[in-house]
Amino acid sequence: MNRTIDFTTITACGECCVGCQKKITGLCKGCIEADGYVPEWAASGRCKIHECARKHNVQFCGICDEFPCEQLPSVIHWNPDIVEHLTTLAEKYRLK
Ligand code: SF4
Ligand code: SF4
Repeated sequence: MNRTIDFTTITACGECCVGCQKKITGLCKGCIEADGYVPEWAASGRCKIHECARKHNVQFCGICDEFPCEQLPSVIHWNPDIVEHLTTLAEKYRLK
C-alpha cells in the first residue's frame, strides 16, 4: 500500500512540479497548471508528452495503453531510466 504519493500532482512524464524553484519563484506555473505550455517547451509551443497524455486521458505515461511508446524516451532524452521510472510509478498507482 502506498499512500505517500499524491498522483494529482504527478506530471505526464512522472515528475512533480511541487517544490520546484522555478515554480516557487513564479518563472513557471508547473506543467499541469499550464496545460503543458511551460517555458522549457516554449520553442515548440507545448510539451508533447503532456499533450499526448491528455489525448490518451491518462495522468501519466506509465498507465497509458501504449506505454512504453517510441516517442517517450526520445522526448525525455535526459532521463535514460524514464521507462523504468514510469513502470515503477504505475505499479504504485495500481496499488493505491
Ligand atoms: S517534460 Fe513535459 S510532462 Fe514532463 S515535467 Fe516537463 S512539461 Fe511536464
Ligand atoms: S506513453 Fe506514449 S502514447 Fe502514451 S501518453 Fe505517454 S507519450 Fe503518449
